[in-house]
Amino acid sequence: MFQLHCPHCAALRDEEEFSYAGQAYLVRPAQPEAASDDVWGDYLFKRANPKGWYWEQWQHTAGCRKVFAVKRNTATYEVAGTWTLDAGKPLYLADPDAAPQRDAQLALPTQGAAA
Ligand SMILES: [Zn+2]
Repeated sequence: MFQLHCPHCAALRDEEEFSYAGQAYLVRPAQPEAASDDVWGDYLFKRANPKGWYWEQWQHTAGCRKVFAVKRNTATYEVAGTWTLDAGKPLYLADPDAAPQRDAQLALPTQGAAA
C-alpha cells in the first residue's frame, strides 16, 4: 500500500481512497471523424507499460472525486509527486523520465493526419 497526496483537497491519504484512472496525458486523434478503426483501437487500448517512472491519472473517489496526475515508479511504488492535470502537464512534457511514455504515443498513427 502507498499513500497519495490529493492536490485538490490537500489530503495525504491511503491508496484505498483513490481509483486508478489510466495513463496520463493521452493525445486524442487530431481528426476523430477521419480516424480509422486501427487508429481508434490504438488510442483506446494501446498503452505504454514501462518498468519505472510512469505518469498516470488517479481519482480521489472517497474524497473530492477529482482526477489528478501522479508520477509513480511502477517497480517500487515510489511517488515523485502529484499535481492537478493542468499543473502537471508542462512537467510531464519536460520530464526525461516520461520520454518512453511520450514516444509510445508519438509512435501511434493517431498523431497528425488521420489514416
Ligand atoms: Zn481530493
